[in-house]
Amino acid sequence: QAKKAGRNTMRFFDPEMQREINTRAAIESELHTALEKQQFQLHYQIQVDNYSRPLGAEVLIRWMHPERGLVSPLQFIPLAEETGLILPIGQWVLDTACAQIKRWEQDTRRSNLVLAVNVSAKQFHQADFVAQVQEAMQRHAIKPTRLKLELTESMLHENIEETIAKMNELNEIGIHFSLDDFGTGYSSLQYLKKLPLDQLKIDQSFVRDLATDQSDKAIVGTIIAMAHSMELDAIAEGVETEEQRQLLMSCGCTHYQGYLFGRPVPIEQFEAQLPQS
Ligand code: C2E
Ligand code: MG
Ligand code: MG
Ligand code: MG
Repeated sequence: QAKKAGRNTMRFFDPEMQREINTRAAIESELHTALEKQQFQLHYQIQVDNYSRPLGAEVLIRWMHPERGLVSPLQFIPLAEETGLILPIGQWVLDTACAQIKRWEQDTRRSNLVLAVNVSAKQFHQADFVAQVQEAMQRHAIKPTRLKLELTESMLHENIEETIAKMNELNEIGIHFSLDDFGTGYSSLQYLKKLPLDQLKIDQSFVRDLATDQSDKAIVGTIIAMAHSMELDAIAEGVETEEQRQLLMSCGCTHYQGYLFGRPVPIEQFEAQLPQS
């Protein structure tokens, strides 16, 4: 018995694993102060139409850590979810995006741009999520149609009735919804039909090998056809090559995002990518 426990304990002291645990713990404690020290930044990645005209941007958070440098959201968003810190972080993202929309509203060249904001499961499932979004919009006096919320399939399966009610409430005031990473989850069509969505966002895993993988091409074509038949638009993410863009267009795609058009960049650089007149 003792021997058995000993062996299990040994595994825990694997130095590689221990290092990982330490980094995680450190990042977790540093996340607490990152907001007040203003270490978060938003980057903006352009979204375009078939003629490469800008439609808006997806807002992507960045953590500029004083020692670690740039920490990927893939690394800290899950930790922020676990600790609940995603709530103040998510509010900050929403507020900052609304402030940006307000600045563009006064500029006729920019006043049609839509900002897409990622929403985490914990954030969405908060009892007062609808009120939080409304407050952010009122604080900056912006048009709700300039804001799009990106949700993922998995977060919508939890508490379906409440999810639909919340989405309807926000949709009625004019906020649009995009279903992020579409195709990687398990939504039935029956279920999708009930959600007040405006857009399906085709996951980049289907776009990557589009030129060589016939089944990816079939999947993408099917997603786009399905989106259009439900009167949703379809946007492809992770578009890196002209060939991918051409193939997507031949599948009926109308909205695009990816390095081919622009990387996520700070606001000044983003604005420099826009037509200047
Ligand atoms: P996502 O929402 O699916 O965002 C798309 C990710 O793909 C971004 O990674 C973006 O930089 C990357 N990407 C865009 N174009 C290309 C391309 O052409 N090729 C490749 N290989 N990648 C591309 P990023 O910025 O590292 O964000 C990762 C994830 O972190 C996001 O996935 C989203 O789930 C989450 N995230 C980012 N910002 C926020 C936020 O403000 N709030 C929440 N809750 N989650 C966020
Ligand atoms: Mg997204
Ligand atoms: Mg995505
Ligand atoms: Mg993704």
